[in-house]
Amino acid sequence: MLEDIDRVLLTEEQIQKRVSELGAEISRDYAGKDLVLVCILKGALCFMADLSRNITIPVDMDFMAISSYGASTKSSGEVRILQDLDAPIANRHVLIVEDIVDSGLTLKYLVDNLSARRPASLKIATLLDKPARRLVPIATDYNGFQIPDEFVVGYGLDYAEKYRNLPFIGILKPEIYKK
Ligand code: 5GP
Repeated sequence: MLEDIDRVLLTEEQIQKRVSELGAEISRDYAGKDLVLVCILKGALCFMADLSRNITIPVDMDFMAISSYGASTKSSGEVRILQDLDAPIANRHVLIVEDIVDSGLTLKYLVDNLSARRPASLKIATLLDKPARRLVPIATDYNGFQIPDEFVVGYGLDYAEKYRNLPFIGILKPEIYKK
């Protein structure tokens, strides 16, 4: 698996430090509020697990699975819900926990979809942001790292379902997805 990585972009230590800062910020901002963390599966699974453990106020967790790129490195722009939330979010404070904002199409769809359910508030926490590739404007509220326009894997992010279990974020060798 490691031989497929061109270089490490963010080390495990860098990720953990930033995630703990975000957790502290979220704990302060939502103190006394009824907060639901909505993890977008599967890419945000590691971020959700670590972020939630750095939040010191009570939270509920829910999960949504949406269609991903499959074995491609570009967004089709078409988003489908594969698994919806377990519980209604009306009148609750909702924080979407996402792995990466690239074109922004996925988050735009999610924001539109979840806003229609009338939450008390709706905000976005994303671990990574690739601003160079944005097609639709998306304002994120909690942002881990801005990264260059490279296809990354690890810490939950995959290529063809592989590499999610790497503890760091790395740039995949282009020959892997150009095969
Ligand atoms: P968007 O709709 O913003 O273009 O794409 C968002 C989704 O595309 C993310 O949730 C993620 O699953 C996937 N994605 C975007 N960029 C990358 C990347 O560099 N690596 C991986 N593994 N997935 C990405």
